[in-house]
This record gives sequence, structure tokens and C-alpha cells, in this order.
Amino acid sequence: MAETVLDSPCPVCGKRGLIYRAEELKIPHFGNCLQTTIICPHCGFRHADIMMLDIHDPMRYEISIESERDLSAKVIRSTSGTITIPEIGAKLEPGPLSEAFITNVEGLLNRFVDILVQLMHDTPEKLEEIREVLRKIGYIRHGRERVTVILEDPLGNSAIIGEHVRKRKLTEEEVKNLKLGEITLSLRGLNDLQHNP
Ligand SMILES: [Zn+2]
Repeated sequence: MAETVLDSPCPVCGKRGLIYRAEELKIPHFGNCLQTTIICPHCGFRHADIMMLDIHDPMRYEISIESERDLSAKVIRSTSGTITIPEIGAKLEPGPLSEAFITNVEGLLNRFVDILVQLMHDTPEKLEEIREVLRKIGYIRHGRERVTVILEDPLGNSAIIGEHVRKRKLTEEEVKNLKLGEITLSLRGLNDLQHNP
């Protein structure tokens, strides 16, 4: 693991001395990738990303969750990946606060639960709607509600790995309709932090 201290200000607290960590990972059925993390030792700001080191195409992965076993399918989500569960209206898109993560379908559902619980506080007028989605997630966890998890990444840095996964290349049209990460981080340092429209 390589670690560097950057002479760039933290995007949250403005203090200098961000720690940049890079670690090479070999993920079976996916390939070699670089996991990068930027940590601010002053305020705790953290930003992680995953980049494929091998050749990769824009890809779409889809898995039908039909039993508890499917919950253990691996989910690698880079900051350029969009995750959709159409049956419950859940969507996780690239954005300034969206981090890369490696988890499984169950861990992904937990992330959605965290977001929904936060939403219950922020938008009390949608309480009933949110409760309904939380109930459905409960059923999915016990393999009692069939849903589809779709992961699309125009940069090919994300994947779902499991028994019932279908994968194919994204069409040009599909790539056009996907959001890219709003933060593009250059390896030269945080001075190159770009905000795309
Ligand atoms: Zn900071």
C-alpha cells in the first residue's frame, strides 16, 4: 500500500495535509484494480474510488434476487457506477457524496436502508412512502420479494459478481444517458479537482 501526504487543502475544512492511499486489489472474475482513498486527518473527510487496471468496456450487470443466496453476490461500485433497483424505485447515482465501495447485495440493501432512514428525518411528509420501501427491503432480505439489481458503469470500473448475474456491454445510447462522477480526481493531486456540470 502506498501512502502520500498531499499539499492540497481539504475540500471540507480547508486544512492542508490530506492523506492519499492507493492499494492494488485483485478481485476474482473482475481483475486488477486500484483502490484509492483520500482522508483528511483534521476533520475526517474521506473519499474512496476504485479503478480497473485492466482493459475494460462500458458494462451493464443485472442480477435477479430470488433467494437469500443471491444476497451474497459481490457488488463492486466505483464512483462512476449507477445502481438501480427498479421494483422499489431505488437509485444510487454518481455524485459529490457518493463513494466507491465493495460489498455484497445485502450490504447494498443496508446502504439503501441508511439513506432511507436519513430521508425519513429530512422529508417527514414522505414517511409512509419510505416505510413501504423499507418493508419491501425487509422482504427482499428474506428472499420473499423478487427484485432486480442493475449496475451500469460507462467506465467499466464496477461489477456484480455472482451465480445469476447477466452482463453485457452498454450501448452508446445507454452510455449517453448515464451520469458520470461529478468529482474527477487526478492522480497529480487535489488541485486538479474538477466539478463537471
Ligand atoms: Zn478536512
